[in-house]
Order: sequence, then C-alpha cells, then structure tokens
Amino acid sequence: MKSFSELGLNDNIVKGLELQGITEPTEIQSLTIPEILKNKDVIGESFTGSGKTLAFLAPIFQKINTEKREMQVLIIQPTHELVMQTEAQIKMLAVNSNVSVTSLTLIGDVNIFNQIKKLKEIKPHIIVGTPGRVLDLMNKKKISAHTIKTIVIDEADNLLDNTSSAFVKDIIKKTMKDREILIFSATINKNTLETAKALMKDPVIFKNESNFSLNPVIEHMYIETDPREKSEVLRKLTSAINPQKAVVFVNNVYNIDLVAERLNYHNKNAFAMHNKLTKEQRQNAMEKFRKGQIKILVSSDISARGLDIENVTHIINLDFPSNPLEYLHRAGRTARGKNSGCTISLVTAKEMHLIKKYEKEFKIKIVKKQLKQGQLLSID
Ligand code: AMP
Repeated sequence: MKSFSELGLNDNIVKGLELQGITEPTEIQSLTIPEILKNKDVIGESFTGSGKTLAFLAPIFQKINTEKREMQVLIIQPTHELVMQTEAQIKMLAVNSNVSVTSLTLIGDVNIFNQIKKLKEIKPHIIVGTPGRVLDLMNKKKISAHTIKTIVIDEADNLLDNTSSAFVKDIIKKTMKDREILIFSATINKNTLETAKALMKDPVIFKNESNFSLNPVIEHMYIETDPREKSEVLRKLTSAINPQKAVVFVNNVYNIDLVAERLNYHNKNAFAMHNKLTKEQRQNAMEKFRKGQIKILVSSDISARGLDIENVTHIINLDFPSNPLEYLHRAGRTARGKNSGCTISLVTAKEMHLIKKYEKEFKIKIVKKQLKQGQLLSID
C-alpha cells in the first residue's frame, strides 16, 4: 500500500492529515487521489465510512490556487448534515495543513441574502451545498460558474437518481467544459452510472465488484422477536450490550418519540431524532451525540445517510428494513474509518426470509442471537 506522499500529496497536506491521526490511505483514497491530481474525471464507488470525503478533499486542497480569491470547487451533497460535516472537514484540514483554503456552505432554509453577502465577501475557494440552493445562486449569478474547476457530486445514487438530478445536471451545464467532475457514492446503480458517464469526459471508474458493499469488519446479528415485545427486547438488549454510542432505527417516524421516551424512562440517555426538529436542534443533538452526552440516537432513515459520527459502536434495527439499500445505509453508520462495529436487528417471524436474502446480497453472515439472563448469547 502506497503512502499519502507516494500517491502524490504534498508535505503540507500529508502533515495536516497526520495531525488528524490519518497516516495510511484507505483503499478508495489510494485509487482516487492520483487520478484526481491528474485532473481526471472519476467515479468512485465505495462503502460508507471508507474515507470518501478525504479521497476527494485531499487532492482538491492540493489543486486549489490559494493566491486567487476565486470560487474554484463546488461540492454538491444531498443533506444539510452532510454539507455541515464536509465543511467541518475542510476547515480542519485547512488549519492542520496550513493551506489557506476558504469555504462556504449553501443550504436551503437559510437566508439567501446572507449567503449572497458572504459569497461576495469571502469569494470562497470551495462551496459546499445542496443542489437546489446552489443552482438558485448560480442562476442569480452569485456563484461565478466560469471559475469553477472541479465539481464533486457526493452520494450520487441519491443526487442523480431522483428529483435532484435535474438540478445537478443544470449546475454542471453552467460551468466550463474543461472542469473536472468527481462522482462518489456508496452504491452506484446502472442508471446512475449511465447518467454519470453521459455528463463526464472519459471517467476513470472504481466500482465495487459485488452489487453492494459493506465494510467487512461490521458484525451482523439478529434476535427473533414478537412484534409486541420489541420495546421490552430493546430495553434488555441495551442493558446487555451497554453501548457506548448506538443508533436505533425505527421504520415509522411516529414511533421515534415513544421509543426514546421508554428508553429514557430506564435512564438510557436516548434522544429522538426526527424531522420535526429544527436544524439547530438537530445539530445540537448531533454535537451531544458526538461528545457522548447522548448515548442512543433513535431515528428513522433520515439520519441514516452520510452522517459521519465517530465511534458508533452499535446499530440497532428495532424494525427490520424491508429494502436492502436501507440495511446497507444503516449498517454503514458504524465501523467508520478504521473502527469496528456491530449491527443488531430485531426480526419478526414474518421477516425471517429477509435474513437469507441480505446474507446472499451483501455476502455477509447475520448471526442468530438470544437474550438470556441479561446477556446477548449465541444460539448453537
Ligand atoms: P467518510 O467515508 O469520508 O465519511 O469518512 C469516515 C471517517 O473515516 C471520517 O471520520 C474520517 O476522518 C476517517 N478517515 C478517513 N480517511 C481515513 C484514513 N485514511 N485512516 C483513518 N481514518 C480515516
């Protein structure tokens, strides 16, 4: 495995990464960094938590001309949380590598006039934003499309496969023909791949061999549960495993509050993460979760995508996801970077057939477990 320097990154950036405890490239980073440094268009498919963000940020940092106060990079991501996380990574790398890269986030629901003012004042090298607002500001000529050298489309299966794709295509069309396009995602299906290729110039493609990919260090387990006993099983399970940091996924948003309340009744330090919360409330909760002040986040799939929370030790599927992609995205919230993690699902008799299906689809083993005398035990 080559080092970051051997991949072509300069000393400033290598030292900056080192200060962040990042010394060895992950697989996706070794593949994409040299190509991005050569200004190639790249499509990178890689499991979540595999270091995708730095796979594009590190070489982008090296290519930005910091002497020019000009907007040079656009990073498009589907959710506010992801945008904020990427911005945090940019700021951190800028400080640690001593490269004076500037950045600005542009998301919907935030006062557009303030954003326009900041664009003008800062002229950020990197703009990180959600597609609707970025396009809006391009149409208003507040983002200088002609100076953009690189566009990153992150979580492309989401951005190129639904209503956002028209926005993304328009954004790309407004920039110069010789800009570089980088497309990243945990899963890139055939449609997305075709759409992506049509937008790009002879892209270098790094695609997982299997249809889907999960970090192989994640352990998968399930407990067969009567639907009426889920709440009790969850309580016993959290006592048995005493998770440092867990995300409990529920399928029905209406149950989020109830589940969190019951956990808190038993002093489990849980928080209900649902979309009725304001952006500030969500960010606050994420911060507390990051610091370990909240131990269990109860959520629907809205927070399954892209959240980079360090050291999530356990993913608990209180309701089993009926769609394999959801299983993939939920499980992908643990074992980020070089950490390990565990996914435990409560499965009803009716859902048992899905276990075999996912085992085959993801080439994983989901081990049957049971709760006995306060412990989570294997069944022989
Ligand atoms: P990402 O897939 O970009 O969401 O990254 C997941 C986590 O892995 C982040 O917390 C990164 O800081 C961390 N990370 C990225 N690259 C590396 C690396 N080469 N070694 C260790 N951790 C890394």
